[in-house]
Formats: sequence, C-alpha cells, structure tokens
Amino acid sequence: MKKSKMIFAACMAFILLTLCGCTSFQDNASFAASKPSSTSASSVISEDSQLKVIFLDVGQGNAQLILTPSGKTMLIDGGNNGREKDMFNYIKQYNVKKIDVLVGSHPDADHIGTFPELVDALDIGAVYLPRASSNTKTYEALLTSIKNKGLRIKTAKTGVTIDLDEKIKVVMVAPADTYEDTNNMSAVVKITYGQQSFLFPGDAEYKSEQDMIKSGAELGSTVLAVGHHGSNSSTSVGFLKKVKPLYAVIQVGEDNKYGHPTEKTLKKLENQKVKILRTDKNGSITFTTDGSSLKVATDK
Ligand SMILES: [Zn+2]
Repeated sequence: MKKSKMIFAACMAFILLTLCGCTSFQDNASFAASKPSSTSASSVISEDSQLKVIFLDVGQGNAQLILTPSGKTMLIDGGNNGREKDMFNYIKQYNVKKIDVLVGSHPDADHIGTFPELVDALDIGAVYLPRASSNTKTYEALLTSIKNKGLRIKTAKTGVTIDLDEKIKVVMVAPADTYEDTNNMSAVVKITYGQQSFLFPGDAEYKSEQDMIKSGAELGSTVLAVGHHGSNSSTSVGFLKKVKPLYAVIQVGEDNKYGHPTEKTLKKLENQKVKILRTDKNGSITFTTDGSSLKVATDK
C-alpha cells in the first residue's frame, strides 16, 4: 500500500510539474528575449517585481498600457473614437482600478479618441497633454471631461519627469519646441527599468526627431514604438541609430487607408536588424521585464 501511495504521489508531482512547465513555456513563447530569460517557475508566478508594457490592439491607433512593479498604472493614448468598448474590456482584463498617469501624446482622435469616456468613468491620477490645441469634437469632449472631473492638465514637454514608481524612470524627451504640426507636438515618453527601456514617440515626425537628437537626451531604448504608425514622415535613420532598438512595435490597423506602415520604414528597421512586431498581425503585444531580462508575448 505504502509503495503504491508513493507512486501515486510521485505521479501527481510529475503531472503538476508538467502543468507548471507548460505555463512557463507559454509565457516565454513567441520570441527570444534580449538576454536569456529565466525559465524557473517562480519567475513566472511571481509578478511582483515586473514591469509590463502592453501595446493594445485598437486597430488603427495607439494605446499603451503600463503596469509597474508596485501596481501603478499608466496609459499612453487610448485608440480612436468607437474603440471605447475595447478599451473598457482591456481595463477589466488587466484589472485596472485606477489610471495613475494618463498621457495623451497629441490631440489626434486615433490617440485620444476614447479618453473622454475613460476620464468620465475611471479614477484618474494625473493627466498630461502637450500644448497643442485642436478644434475637433473629440478634443473638446476630452477637455470637458477633464474639467468635470476636477483634474488639471499638466503640460507634456521635454524634461518633464513623472513619479510613477520608485523603481521606474519616466521622462519626456519631446516636444522640445513648439511646432505648427500637431504630430510634431507629440509628447514622447521614455520609460526605463534597470537595463530595459521603452520609447513612445506618438506621431512625432522628422523635425521633432532631429530636435530630440540635438537636445542630447538619452534616446537609446530596447523597445521603440514606431512613430506615426510607420509612416514615411517618421523614423529617420539618424533617429533610429540613436534609439538602437532591439524591438520595434508598429500600432496599425489591418488594411488601413493610410498605407501604414510603409515599405520604406519597414526597410529601415530591417536594415538596422530590428525585430518588428505589429498589432495588425500580432494582436496585442506584451513586454514583461524584471529590469534585466525581457520577455515578449503576442496575442496572435
Ligand atoms: Zn496617429
């Protein structure tokens, strides 16, 4: 009897280990990390010291959800008008109770489209917007929602640092100047956790890219959110060489009418040996890091 119990226990242990192993493999799936990531079960189960950066699939538009090691939440952009349901589903999926920092990169609807409803419905800490006004209904609705909520807009510009989590450095590296073009007014955020970093240029174009380089800002980043959905107006070779990303994420809708991303931009990324991920092909894209290793998982 005793022997059979031991065999039974051993079998159960084996089954459990196999199941745990499967989970960790799934988490590590998709792509190799910049450094070999730990495959121990504990590193997968314990999310305590992890930073998650999720490029949400919102079709043609940008939305980046950042979940920090101490449980803080930051949202940079939120997709176009009509994507509210998707955004609220993501908020539920990732169990977001409060958005500590909300950043609208610039007033275009494919970036701030869902913000009026999000601001109305959710607990919001701070709101950052660049000084770029717009007379669109969406932008005006956002200003009204912010006002109704009793929030004050903080100006997004070069040199702004955001206190989000003591382990994470969040700085803005643009806009460095005032530009007529609202794309160039895009707030450009850089997030650093240990050896891993993420750069979110919104729709910043060549002019802003040049000024970021001139400013001497530390632009080097492991992951680059490709500017302006991969259009020809962004991602100059000089900028790309400064950022030196391992991964480039393009947030773009399937068969979009703008022809994003362009062949030219894709070629530039390929020439720099950057691994390209796209929300139209990969769905939502999640990077997880403990500050040293980096894992990436995609929905499809
Ligand atoms: Zn855009």
